[in-house]
Amino acid sequence: MGKDYYEILGVSRDATKEEIKRAYRRLAKKYHPDLNPENREEAEEKFKEISEAYEVLMDDKKREIYDKYGEEGLKGRVFNEGGFTWNDFTHFSDLNDIFGGFGDFFRDFFGFSSAPRQNRGRDIAVRVNVDLKDVITGVDKEVKVKTYITCPVCHGTGAAPGSSVKTCPACGGTGQKKVVKRMGPIQFVTVTTCDVCHGTGKIIEKPCPECKGTGRVWGEKTYKVHIPPGVREDDALRIRGKGEVPEGAGVSGDLYVYVHINMPEGVWIDGLDIHKNISVPYPIAVLGGEVNIDFLDNAQKIKISPGTQGGSTLIVKGMGLPPFGGGKRGNLILHVRIEVPKKLSKKAKELVKQLAKELDVETKKSWFSR
Ligand SMILES: [Zn+2]
Ligand SMILES: [Zn+2]
Repeated sequence: MGKDYYEILGVSRDATKEEIKRAYRRLAKKYHPDLNPENREEAEEKFKEISEAYEVLMDDKKREIYDKYGEEGLKGRVFNEGGFTWNDFTHFSDLNDIFGGFGDFFRDFFGFSSAPRQNRGRDIAVRVNVDLKDVITGVDKEVKVKTYITCPVCHGTGAAPGSSVKTCPACGGTGQKKVVKRMGPIQFVTVTTCDVCHGTGKIIEKPCPECKGTGRVWGEKTYKVHIPPGVREDDALRIRGKGEVPEGAGVSGDLYVYVHINMPEGVWIDGLDIHKNISVPYPIAVLGGEVNIDFLDNAQKIKISPGTQGGSTLIVKGMGLPPFGGGKRGNLILHVRIEVPKKLSKKAKELVKQLAKELDVETKKSWFSR
C-alpha cells in the first residue's frame, strides 16, 4: 500500500483540512532542516515526507485517489511515475506563513533558488470519453482545449516584431528583488517580483499588437493523450505544462484529463471485475447449450450447463479489467436472467402444458392449475 499519509501526519482518516493543516504546521516546525543542524539529512527526508502527505491530503481529488489506490495509485496520475518531488508541492505559501519567509535551505535542498512561486498559468481540465474495451488495452486520444496559448506573432516575448527588448535595469534581468532578513540564528531570504519589469526581466519597447504585450492569446490546442490501461471513472491524468500560458514570463499550468468510461447497458464494474447481465432462453437454461454474447467487440460463446438457474452467475476468468498501468486482469461475471417467452404459438402452449404435467406442476395446486 506504500506510505500511510495519515500516520505520517498523525491524523485520523477522516481528518478535516483544518486538522491536517494544524498537524502539518506542528511537524514542519519540528523537521525544518535549518532547525535540525545536527541531523539535517534525516530532517530533510522527514520534511519532504510530511510535505508529500500534506500535498495529497489537502486536495480532495488527490486524497480520493490516494484513499482508493494508495501511494502507488498517485504515481503517473497525480505525480510522475517516480512519485512525489518538490516540483509537485503547491503549498509554498503555507510554509511562508509558518516560517515568515522562505528559509535559505530551499535553495540547496529544493533544487531551485528561493524564488517566489513562479508566475504560473492556471491548470485546466478536460474530460475524455473512452470505451470499456479501451480500458483493457489503453488508448491514445486527442483532446481539444480552449485556453490561453503562446502568441503566434511574438512567440511569447510580448514584443512587436522588429522592436527591441532590453534587459530590465532594476533587476538586471532576473525578474526578482531580494530582501535578506535575519531572525536570531535563521536567515530568511525573501524574494519578490521585480516591480519594474513585473518579473519578466525585460523591458519591451513596443508591445506586440496581437497579444498587447502579454505574450499569450486565447486559442485552441489539440493534444494527443495516452490513456493507460486500467483507468477508472473520474481518474485524472495530469499532463504537465499543457495548461494555460501565463501572462508575461512564467510557466504554463497543467492539463488534467478526466476519464469518463462509456458503459454498455447492463454492464457494471466492481474492482477489477466486469459484471454483465445475460439472457438465457428458457429451453437452454433447462437443457444446457451455448449462448452468444457480443461483448467489447468480441463475440464469444458461453457454455450453459443443464439446469442453470435465473440469478446464478457464470465466471469467465481473466476477462475483467487490468489494474492501473496494466497487469493481471480480473474476471467477467455473467448474471443469468432466464428469458421466458411472452408470446406462444398454440403448439408451444400445448407443449408447455404437457411439460407442466410431466413435472407435476399442476398437481401442486398452484395458481397454474386454476
Ligand atoms: Zn504577441
Ligand atoms: Zn526587473
